[in-house]
Amino acid sequence: MLDNELRNRLIDSALEARKNAYAPYSGYYVGAALLCSGGDIVTGCNVENASYGATNCAERTAVFKAVSEGKQRFTAIAIAGGKEREQASDYAYPCGVCRQVLREFCVPEDMIVIVCRSRDDYKQMTLAELLPCSFGPENLG
Ligand code: ZN
Repeated sequence: MLDNELRNRLIDSALEARKNAYAPYSGYYVGAALLCSGGDIVTGCNVENASYGATNCAERTAVFKAVSEGKQRFTAIAIAGGKEREQASDYAYPCGVCRQVLREFCVPEDMIVIVCRSRDDYKQMTLAELLPCSFGPENLG
């Protein structure tokens, strides 16, 4: 369901969003691009704070933006990160908190997570692989 063209669009969007990262403390710049079930792409970047605990990751920025715009089902996310301002140099895997937040709005086995440095340099997996035996909304239903 994620063809090359769509994957490229997601990766490009994550790289573009990364340019807006506000990371004066860690110097680790991250961009994320979230694919909504309707086909829209919503982006986010990390937003740090002098009170470190108030920092928000790029993935959650994208999720919260999307939910605030009425989108609540997601099928894929691309994440680009690294310490170099100009170039995504790492495979920036989502932190544990972001994995759980993504879990709230997706089917873990179907949710595709891409960590990328460029269109041609990425790793792709599912959220279920990153967050096995997870706890989700259906546990409370
Ligand atoms: Zn995170």
